[in-house]
Amino acid sequence: MCSNHDLANFCCPLCGSRGTIRLSREAQGCAVCGANARYCGIILAIQNVAFDSSRTPLILQPPRMDVRALGVSDSECYADLLGQKLSYRNTFFHQAPFLDICAPASCDAWAACDIIICSDVIEHTAEPPSVVLANLCSMLKPGGSVILSAPTWQMPYSIEWYPGATELTVSDRGASRVVEWRNRRGTLYMDDKPNFHGGTGDALERRLLSHGELTAAARTAGFSAVQTLPFAEEYGYVWPLVSWPDPTLREAVFDSRVLVLTR
Ligand SMILES: [Zn+2]
Repeated sequence: MCSNHDLANFCCPLCGSRGTIRLSREAQGCAVCGANARYCGIILAIQNVAFDSSRTPLILQPPRMDVRALGVSDSECYADLLGQKLSYRNTFFHQAPFLDICAPASCDAWAACDIIICSDVIEHTAEPPSVVLANLCSMLKPGGSVILSAPTWQMPYSIEWYPGATELTVSDRGASRVVEWRNRRGTLYMDDKPNFHGGTGDALERRLLSHGELTAAARTAGFSAVQTLPFAEEYGYVWPLVSWPDPTLREAVFDSRVLVLTR
């Protein structure tokens, strides 16, 4: 079904439909199921871990109910299909079934996973990636995998907007929003230029992630193998690795490729 590797026509790894590759990580790529390039990468990583390497679209794969998989606020675009193919539960921070990947006690309730999908969440968590990655690692069976994505840049270090924050509040000030937080010493700070993803206060951008520092943090957190999933253009998992015209990023190249972290 996916024998044609013509770059003008990709074969959707979710639904098997053919379409046109959009050179954008977030814009809709598949006209049928709505998968964007990021979701295509997530599904390809799941296929590598849980299914054979034939790249048969997920919708045609035989179920693997022996594989225990967990989503961390996964998109509805692919969550329903994962529920048909794996022993899969999606979880949420603000609604049941609950999971707080910053809280070890919450993570303990979801132990012994084969696969955890954590896509574009770790840039928003209250705890830094080192803590979150260690928690995710602890939730896996030996040999299990975290399929991780986040907006990452090819720069030498990550930038934390609210380092060491203990209290953090978002409030409206006129037409804009401000973030106020205190560090562990009790010092009060104010950010009058917060960035939100998706436009809600829940999706406050807490950090800009260095791709290299994130992969190094994964190794330190206990993963035995840390791999950046190579692009697969014919399956829609591709976007331009280019710098962004943003002074805070200093022309760092936008990377954000999917990571496969194996315990
Ligand atoms: Zn599709």
